[in-house]
Amino acid sequence: MYRLIQLINKVLRLDNPDVVVHHSGGFGGLEVDDKLHKDRWNWRSFYGFYLGYHYYIERDGRIYTTRKGRGAHTYGHNEKIGICLVGNGEIADFTKEQYGSLEKLLKEINPKHIYGHRDLGNTVCPSERLYNWILTFTKK
Ligand SMILES: [Zn+2]
Repeated sequence: MYRLIQLINKVLRLDNPDVVVHHSGGFGGLEVDDKLHKDRWNWRSFYGFYLGYHYYIERDGRIYTTRKGRGAHTYGHNEKIGICLVGNGEIADFTKEQYGSLEKLLKEINPKHIYGHRDLGNTVCPSERLYNWILTFTKK
């Protein structure tokens, strides 16, 4: 089973995956959001998290790898890599540590295309601020 998961993961990432960027919508952080996802979906990841995102970036910039293989973050687009920043960009800006970590992570993943959640669903996620950041980043 482990090897199968590894294989699926490898195949999914083989040819520069697409990324979908999210904000969490709240400021609770890892434990709070993980519990929300557990209560809602109860789908434990290989890494022991319930978050549907593949990566989760705390306010202090720490990056958690929370899922591999198929995600559960964007309806109809869960083959894409989901990255979530803690916070709500409609209320307050993200920290410079978060932007720094997101940039680092995106450079590592080297995605074919970076979407904001709002590109793929009827939502304000990942907020105007973060969406504009993505647009600027992709033009670099
Ligand atoms: Zn989202």
